[in-house]
Amino acid sequence: MEIAPGIHILPAAAAGFMGFYAPNVYLVAGAQAALVDSGYHDADMTRTRLDYIESAAPLNLAYILLTHPHPDHAGGCSDIKNATGARIAAYSLSRAQSEAYRVKADVIARDKDILELGGVSIEVVHTPGHTRESLCFYVREAGVLFSGDHIVGYGTPVIARDGDMAEYIDSLKKLLDYKISLICPGHGPLIREPERKIRELIAHRQEREQQIISCLRRGKRCVLEMVSEIYPEVDSRLLALAGEQVLAHLSKLVKEGRASFSGEYYILKET
Ligand SMILES: [Zn+2]
Repeated sequence: MEIAPGIHILPAAAAGFMGFYAPNVYLVAGAQAALVDSGYHDADMTRTRLDYIESAAPLNLAYILLTHPHPDHAGGCSDIKNATGARIAAYSLSRAQSEAYRVKADVIARDKDILELGGVSIEVVHTPGHTRESLCFYVREAGVLFSGDHIVGYGTPVIARDGDMAEYIDSLKKLLDYKISLICPGHGPLIREPERKIRELIAHRQEREQQIISCLRRGKRCVLEMVSEIYPEVDSRLLALAGEQVLAHLSKLVKEGRASFSGEYYILKET
């Protein structure tokens, strides 16, 4: 489906992963075309996407741009590369990451790099946070930003151990300098009020940080105690993720010298 001139969201196979967390895959078509993310490594979904690419951009897929190497976004990239000859562009990955995620970049994408598609240029924006390798892709002419998991269409993205909360907040602030009219997120619906969404995400994280500082002040010093106060009704299946979020905030406070970690619990350094 074309969502803006030359910008398409690709369908997934009906039998594929259609849940709430299904990843979005986009196509940007100029004289040449680029795919933004590739979805899971799943033969049916990849076939459906290749069929769409063949109809919308026959024989001219130049790049597969990866917002980050997580398997729901990058799993299908090798199959699509083999079928189309497109080059995979991603942030620099260590050899261990390349092997773990089975992603090998042909083009190392760096902040502010411009990829030309003939009539359309795509700017790389490094936005570490969800992962340290997270990239957004910006089409300046259209004011469209592909955000991967840096900004998702519902709620807030997960910042886990392969991410960094301080960098995440800085990367959100960095996007306020870009003129964006539409965000195409890695999951969930399109975001048509980008600035409001970005400011909400920053405010949400600042609020969480204040809750954690308040916990520390009142002597709640371990992650589990904080999770039960901050996420009182969290589904038990999401407990580990909630713990990761609290941990990401605590690591930020330690990194900033505002808290310390004894090896067992966290202590606030009041000034
Ligand atoms: Zn992810």
